[in-house]
Amino acid sequence: MINFTVGPVQTYDYILKIGSQQVPYFRTAEFSDIVNESEQLLLQMIDAPNDSKAVFLTGSGTAAMESVVMNVLNDEDKVLVINGGSFGERFSSLCSLHHRKHDDVCLEFGKTLRKEELIPYSDKGYTALLVNVNETSTGVLYDMNIIRDFCKKNNMLLVADAISSFLADNFSMKDMGVDVAVISSQKALACAPGISMTVMDPKALERVEKNDDRNMYLSLKDALKNALRGQTPFTPAVGIIRQIHARLKYIETHGGVRREIDHVSVLARDFRERIKEFPFTLYAETPSNAVTSVHAGEISARLVFETLKDDYGIWVCPNGGTMAETIFRVGHIGNLSISDNDRLFEALHDMKKRGMLG
Ligand SMILES: *Cc1c(COP(=O)(O)O)cnc(C)c1O
Repeated sequence: MINFTVGPVQTYDYILKIGSQQVPYFRTAEFSDIVNESEQLLLQMIDAPNDSKAVFLTGSGTAAMESVVMNVLNDEDKVLVINGGSFGERFSSLCSLHHRKHDDVCLEFGKTLRKEELIPYSDKGYTALLVNVNETSTGVLYDMNIIRDFCKKNNMLLVADAISSFLADNFSMKDMGVDVAVISSQKALACAPGISMTVMDPKALERVEKNDDRNMYLSLKDALKNALRGQTPFTPAVGIIRQIHARLKYIETHGGVRREIDHVSVLARDFRERIKEFPFTLYAETPSNAVTSVHAGEISARLVFETLKDDYGIWVCPNGGTMAETIFRVGHIGNLSISDNDRLFEALHDMKKRGMLG
């Protein structure tokens, strides 16, 4: 199979090798070194402000999202959620579940956020904003400058879910005024799913210290305390942390974040150019590099997904809910190359020949 989904994605031989090894015992100075070094590399690559901290949670990306809603926010907050798809909706549901007062800025699916759309929410007492930098369900990349300026003006805490943007699109906590960033192992990091990371600046760290714990397993206070010695409160997904460490070290010595982003962007551009000769349209108004959402027009998007999977050994990403029949997505993250794009287009051309694409 060739995997063009948005996660878990195709990985590299040096990561696969770690996946095949025995999982070592972890309450050791050696494993602490791996955790500490990974934290430092991550803080550097995400361009975190001075004195920020990153913690590793065992759980997929949603675990990090939930940890932030529980531990960084509190009952006094009035939260604004940018809701342009299923990941925005997830932040909103988490706020409801944990009784955080919140309102959603609901966007039409596939559309980006405009400056004017935030104006009604200015000077209304909001204290925090939650956004998915790339709303992966539609492939829309938001303009973080608009969001940063709005949060600055209103003195709001900015929480950015950079899960599908980190290493795929430019992302800098400093430049974008982000106080909390969440990422996870299985997107452009291209490791196995199961570890998510929460990066907090001093303002967010202070909030975590002040807030009461609401949960044991996802307690950021406890995670931060243990991180001081390069450890986690409970047994983490040790093997995946080792993969993340190897991946970050590799990126550091092979052109850095810039080269990762450039590669993803080359693949995305190549795909978007070549898809033009099919009866499809590109769906996202301001597309991220990580994923292209494709409107399948008269053709069933679900059928495109099933046929590519069953007849050609290619996974693209189906959509759920109201978009299930109309939209499929093609990811550009993970261990992919232009020759993988070639294979995908050979398959699409063949489907056309078979009369399946109108
Ligand atoms: C993948 C993803 C998540 C996390 O989903 P999990 O299935 O919990 O890993 C969250 N936000 C965005 C924007 C994502 O792309």
